[in-house]
Amino acid sequence: MKAKKKNHFKAIIGILALLGSIILVAVFTQKDSLHSRKSFGERDMDSVRNFWKQEVLPIQNNLSSNKYHIKPLQERMNYLANEIERRHGKKLHVKAEGTYNPVGKKVMAQCRLDGDVPVARISIQSLMDTYSEIENRHRRWHEEFELAFVIILLHELEHMAREQADETFESLITEERATWASTCEYVIEPVLKEQRPVWSGLMVFYIEWMKAGQTNNEVWGSFMRNKYSVFKK
Ligand SMILES: [Zn+2]
Repeated sequence: MKAKKKNHFKAIIGILALLGSIILVAVFTQKDSLHSRKSFGERDMDSVRNFWKQEVLPIQNNLSSNKYHIKPLQERMNYLANEIERRHGKKLHVKAEGTYNPVGKKVMAQCRLDGDVPVARISIQSLMDTYSEIENRHRRWHEEFELAFVIILLHELEHMAREQADETFESLITEERATWASTCEYVIEPVLKEQRPVWSGLMVFYIEWMKAGQTNNEVWGSFMRNKYSVFKK
């Protein structure tokens, strides 16, 4: 997912995790407005913050300190982090947002330049929805959740490592076609090769990519236009 709308954030907690050439600044944010307080839904901010600390931050810290246990994913992370720094001259920041994305509850992540800083924003409440959906469904459900977060984060990094498109719908689609193709090839495929579980919300991209013959053709294009129709103005 991708958008460049300006937002104002209030940092609640800031944790700096750095090692090697990667810096991920993990910040929990909540939008300081009446509108966003409504969008908290039924969850209170403490439960959202605790979820982030317990279920998301440890994975992110492993990735940022080069300790993630699935080697191809750590390698992709390192490659993309270096590409982002090379392109933008700044290290990537990851912000965990306490509120849903204004575009919709299913938008789990976005990336953009915040000034000149590349920022990936993760909507923790959307991740919590996914967690609830997967929870106890099968023996490896927790691994499935962890991988869903990693795949989504690495997908955002794919965006930031590329030329930033303009804000038209067609430009968004062009970019999503390319970034999801890379996510399928370099992230989802290695996970499947190790026979690890992939959440159905992400598996659908891989299935369509296979249907398209692993090429950026019109089958792939029309799937993407449909998937991202919520962004069509
Ligand atoms: Zn995307």
